[in-house]
This record gives sequence, structure tokens and C-alpha cells, in this order.
Amino acid sequence: MSVDLEDYYCDLPFSSWSKYESRVVGSTKVILELFDKHKVNATFFTLGYVAERHPELIEEIKSKGHEIATHGYSHTDLRKMDLKTFETDLTKSLKILEQISGEKILGFRAPFFSIDKRNFWTFDVLKKYLEYDSSIFPVRTPLYGIAGAKRYPYHPSHDNPLKEDVNDKFLEIPPATLPIPIIGNIPIAGGFHMRFLPLSIVKSGIKKINKNGHPAMCYVHPKDLDPETPRIPEYSWYYYWGLDNSKKKFESLLKNFSFSSVRETVLS
Ligand SMILES: [Zn+2]
Repeated sequence: MSVDLEDYYCDLPFSSWSKYESRVVGSTKVILELFDKHKVNATFFTLGYVAERHPELIEEIKSKGHEIATHGYSHTDLRKMDLKTFETDLTKSLKILEQISGEKILGFRAPFFSIDKRNFWTFDVLKKYLEYDSSIFPVRTPLYGIAGAKRYPYHPSHDNPLKEDVNDKFLEIPPATLPIPIIGNIPIAGGFHMRFLPLSIVKSGIKKINKNGHPAMCYVHPKDLDPETPRIPEYSWYYYWGLDNSKKKFESLLKNFSFSSVRETVLS
């Protein structure tokens, strides 16, 4: 289980963030309470910007036994960055997160799942500082994804990160998908997809992944469970779909499956 720890306005350009009122502490506490109740240990892909402003929240997450990983500093789409700006953004977040958590950060998730065939150079940076990534979504959507990418954790090769190199220690942990004949893989276990799809499809998708002997990488944003999240005109309808029912759905997943952090599930 993972949380992309960011505020509801973080999909907007960084320069506009200061005019919005933060809700991230309250909405993250809702998730923490659910994790406590169902004894779930998770990986929090945390935005450096959020950690800088709310260090006590990160300390609380850490004290509950969850893993702190990074989601970068400024939530910039990697397809709009070059190697140098990405490295600066990543290392800025690592410095903040390692200082607060008191331990080495091992994992990264790209904002907007924005690693695709155009920016595989990102792995040169990631492998320099980290042990795993969870950004390659093996789906075809208008917003992100690489159709045909691997669906289960693997070691991406230096020459082609879509191929496995068992000698490479770095891990790629793709978010959970369900293969549908003719259509291809669909994302099942996070964000909009978790809110949109019938719970039965999400559950059967996770069961199939587990049956094949793999963990299902699920994710949630604090805003996914916050029905009061302020409406932002620039955001599309799918930001708000199913918010009234999402907490119940999410809790049902926590009740029916056993979840843990990447550090405990895959790396241990
Ligand atoms: Zn994000």
C-alpha cells in the first residue's frame, strides 16, 4: 500500500500553490486512522514541499511505523524537466525527508506517473540515489503509462528500463493493473480508478495479482478520501468523482487484504 502524500492543489503549477489553503494534515490523518484500525503499514511517497511545511506530520507517519519515500519536491511532470532540474528537485526532497525521518530514503514515485519512453534518463538519476521506483504504469491512457510494460516488480536494465536485468539491484514496482482482453491493462488500485471502478473489479484484480504470487501496488492520495476538497476550476471532473463513497471503498480494501510498505513487502 502506498500514499502519494501531497495537497489537493499540487497538480497545479508550483507557482500558484501559495494562494490555496492547505488540507493535507487533516486528510492524511484520516488515512492514518484507517491504517491504524486495520493494522496496515504503508509507504508514503512524500512531496518535499509538504514535508518542509509539516515536519510534525512526517514524524507522526514515521513514528507509526510507515515508510517515508519521495514524490519529489515540487510535483513537476518529469516529461517537462531535464536531467539537471530533475536531479536538483529530487535531491532537495531527499535532504528534507532524510533530515525529518532520520533514515535513508529508498524509493521514488514520479508526479503524474510521468516516466515513459521519452525520459528513461530518469533512471540514471534514480539509480544514483535510491533503491526502487514505482512510476512506470503498464497501461495506455491519454495522461500516462507505457502499454506492454511489465506488471510485476522487476530489475530494470540500464539500456532499456522496460527489460529485466537480474544483475541490477534497482527495483521497479509497477502500480496494480488488470489485463482485459482486447482493451489491454487497466489501472485498478488507486486514485481516480479506485474511486471510479466497482469495488468488485478492484478486489478481483488484486486477488488475481496475489494468486500469481505478487503483491498488488495500490495507492491513494489524501484528497481521494476528502469529500470536502475545494473545487478548483482548472481540474477536470475525474478529480471529484466518487468522493462521497471513496472512504468506504478504500476501507473495504483494507479490511479484505493484508497490506504493507515496500520496505517490508518487497525489499525485506
Ligand atoms: Zn502526485
